[in-house]
Formats: sequence, structure tokens, C-alpha cells
Amino acid sequence: MNVLVINAGSSSLKYQLYDMNNESVLAKGRVERIGMESSILTHEVEGQAEVREVSEILEHTTAVRKVLDMLTHRKFGVLRNIEDIQAVGHRIVHGGESFRESVLIDDEVKLEIRKLFDLAPLHNPAHMMGITAVEANLPGVPQAVVFDTAFHQSMPPSSYLYAIPTVLYRKHKIRRYGFHGTSHDYVSKQAAEFLGRPLDSLKIVSCHIGNGASCTAILNGKSYDTSMGMTPLEGLMMGTRSGDLDPAIVPYTINKEDLTLNEVNSMLNKHSGLMAVSGISSDMREVVQAMEEGSDSARLAFEMYAYRIRKYVGAYAAAMNGIDVLLFTAGVGENSAVLRKRVCEGLTFLGIDLDENRNEVRSGETRRISADRSRVEVLVVPTNEELLIARDTYRLARNRALTDTLGD
Ligand code: ADP
Repeated sequence: MNVLVINAGSSSLKYQLYDMNNESVLAKGRVERIGMESSILTHEVEGQAEVREVSEILEHTTAVRKVLDMLTHRKFGVLRNIEDIQAVGHRIVHGGESFRESVLIDDEVKLEIRKLFDLAPLHNPAHMMGITAVEANLPGVPQAVVFDTAFHQSMPPSSYLYAIPTVLYRKHKIRRYGFHGTSHDYVSKQAAEFLGRPLDSLKIVSCHIGNGASCTAILNGKSYDTSMGMTPLEGLMMGTRSGDLDPAIVPYTINKEDLTLNEVNSMLNKHSGLMAVSGISSDMREVVQAMEEGSDSARLAFEMYAYRIRKYVGAYAAAMNGIDVLLFTAGVGENSAVLRKRVCEGLTFLGIDLDENRNEVRSGETRRISADRSRVEVLVVPTNEELLIARDTYRLARNRALTDTLGD
């Protein structure tokens, strides 16, 4: 079965086409600048030169049609015709409390996703455009939705509630949801498999450190607590997001700087974090380089960033009454040996002992970076959210096909 994975944003649409017989990626790419004059479609097939096509793509339905044209293109395509796509999986940022797992799309599911627009105004409406666009281009093909929040629905109320009037939870569902769930789910399973130990016997702290960053306490395979909150702003310091701060800073800044609420919101999401403290970049590579060249602000940003992660690891070890595995994933987590080293340096009391040579090894595979004597296994696990979306979609579409056959 071929599964097309779609990640639709408001002006972009990323895709990966999987052959689920061997979980290989047949093609992948993205459409950028949807709704603008010169939209760009970039298409990649393993072993071939990247194709770039500039045209006017005003909305998502046209974007999906262009992608399908490219996938079936005589020269650059990988499929004979679009009937060779048997299922489509969508990444959805917010599933609220309605979705504890991935599901196939029907009218009810679409209605629920619409109800969540308020909670994720930047993401869910764009995902919906992706769903509608696929429906228009591939009518009758089963579509699944995979939520960033679903994995965290196992958190107990003591983890997910904020200490504010509970009426706000009852009326408006103000609570911690957590994000990067697909990634934390995927990497924790990979870690258990790598270690040859059952997932339901492990206490894992998973650090997904990319542009956005979150730590999750995974107790016996289930999310027990996570650092992102009702929105992805809470928790760790990130590329451009502040992470945790005293909420009283918001009204104080509004008064002192004569800013609007929207301006402060934008400051905390887009102009804070590594970018703000270093004054150099939101990209960890550039911050580390500047630090090595002697920049004090880059060093401070790096130290704050590592310190936050270390604090969360300690907090989550306490939350679970122990830690068996500490794992790092995503752009920074997988690639920055110096950051991993700094995080682990202060955690020897927990039984975390990094092996400096192993930590320096570069590889795209899951690997152990702790010393043999370390009580806690420290791993680097490359994340692959698209593969998990493809797997869930494949499972749901295959089950539907089986049920339909049995029903005949
Ligand atoms: P996103 O949250 O956008 O999915 P990624 O997980 O792709 O982000 O991570 C992107 C970030 O990874 C970049 O902003 C960059 O800071 C970081 N990164 C990538 N390679 C390295 C590296 N070799 N060293 C340090 N950081 C890196």
C-alpha cells in the first residue's frame, strides 16, 4: 500500500509518499508560498536531482493537484497514476481532548477538528484546508488524522491542570495538552526496541530539541507529563519562544513598554528564546559557533538553554520516581554533541554518565552515548514523525478495508 503523508500549513504543504511494503520513501517535497504570486514546488526522489517548479498556486486544492501531477509525472514521478495512492495521512497539531489516538476522517471528525480552531488558530484551519484539498483531488481515498497532542492524553489531571479557577477548564478547556506527541511516541518505542526492553517497564525522559523543544516524562510507555502546555509556548527555552516565565511579566511589559497584548504574544513566540538572548540567531549551530568565537551573549543563551533542559530532566525523574532512559531527538538533540554534554554534566547524581567519545559520533541511527557504567541509558534517537503518521494511516486504512471485505 502507498501512503501519502501531508503536513499542511497556512502557506505551505509538505508531503512524503511511502511504500508501506518496506516503509521506504518513494518521493517527498513541499509547496511553499501558497496564495502568493510565485509559489514553489520542490520535489525529491532518492538518487535524482531535486526538481523545482515555480507557478501561481492560490490555494491548497491546487497545491495538492500539483503534488499529484508531480508524483505521476512521466519524468520526475514515481507512480503510474493517482489510483496508486491508497491512503492519505495528515499531521494535525491540536486534537484537544477529543482525540486520544489517530482516526480515519469522517464528517464527525472534521466537525471536531473545526471545534478546535480556537485552541490552535494558526495550525488547525490550515490542516483542514489540506484535508479538503485531498478530498477534492482524491475522492473516496481513506484519509487519517494523526495528532501532535494525542500521545499526551494519558497525562493525569495533576499533570495537565493549571492552578487557576477550574471553571476555566470546564468552560474553555484551558489545560496542558502538550505537543510533539508523535515524535515522543515514536522515539520512546525506538528506544525500547534498541535496548531490547519492554516499553511498559521503562521510565523515559524524552527531549525533543528542535526549533520548538519539549521534554516528556514517559512512564511505562505513556506520557505522564510534558513541558509544552495549552500552546507550544510553555516549557523549555526554544529558538524564538521564551518557554516558562512568570505570567505577571505579560501585563507588566504591556504597561512599561506600551505594547498591545498581541505584540507581547508575538514577542514571546517569535522574538524570544535563543534569538533574543544571544542577539545572534535562533539556530543552535550559529549560537554555538559564536560562543566558540568568544561571544558572551551566545554563551549565556547556550547556558540558559541547556540549564532549562537539565531542570526538566531532574523534575521528570522526580515525577516518575526514577529514570531508566534519557533520550535526545530532533534537529538540536540529534546533532549537537556540545549541548547534550552540557545537559548531562549536572546530572551525574541521577546516574547519568555520558561517554564523551560516543557522544561525538555522528550517525543517522539510534545510538547509546552513555558510558557502560552509567545506570541510566542515554540515547540519541533520530525522530521520524512522518513514518509514524504513515504507519498509523496504513493500519487504519487496512483495518477499514478488512472490515469492508468482511461486511460484504
Ligand atoms: P523543527 O522544530 O522546525 O522541526 P528541527 O527538529 O528540524 O526543527 O530542528 C531544527 C534546528 O536544529 C535548527 O534550527 C538548528 O538549530 C538545529 N540543528 C540542526 N543541525 C544542528 C547541528 N549540527 N548542531 C546544532 N544544532 C543543529
